[in-house]
Amino acid sequence: MYRTNCTSQSIGNLIYERDRQDGKWGEQNHSPEKWIVILIEECGEAAKAILEKESYQYRDELIHVAAVAIAAVESFDRNLERDVKVPGGEENDDD
Ligand SMILES: [Mg+2]
Repeated sequence: MYRTNCTSQSIGNLIYERDRQDGKWGEQNHSPEKWIVILIEECGEAAKAILEKESYQYRDELIHVAAVAIAAVESFDRNLERDVKVPGGEENDDD
């Protein structure tokens, strides 16, 4: 699949941010509820950047949102592998 330079840059930024998060906090295996709180906090930071007309900060915060969402997926998958009870784990239909 063809990818634009723009897509490659944003995905590169996302991977860098995930690595940074892992370096800072190590493997995180939070509950889904806690992940949602963290994700909403990052969304709030993106919203704050918009309100303050900080366009580059807005972009950075969107990368944080994406990286936290990916971290939550990774945590969810690890919890499934470890047979930790996760909401909808038995009925996952990829909605
Ligand atoms: Mg942030």
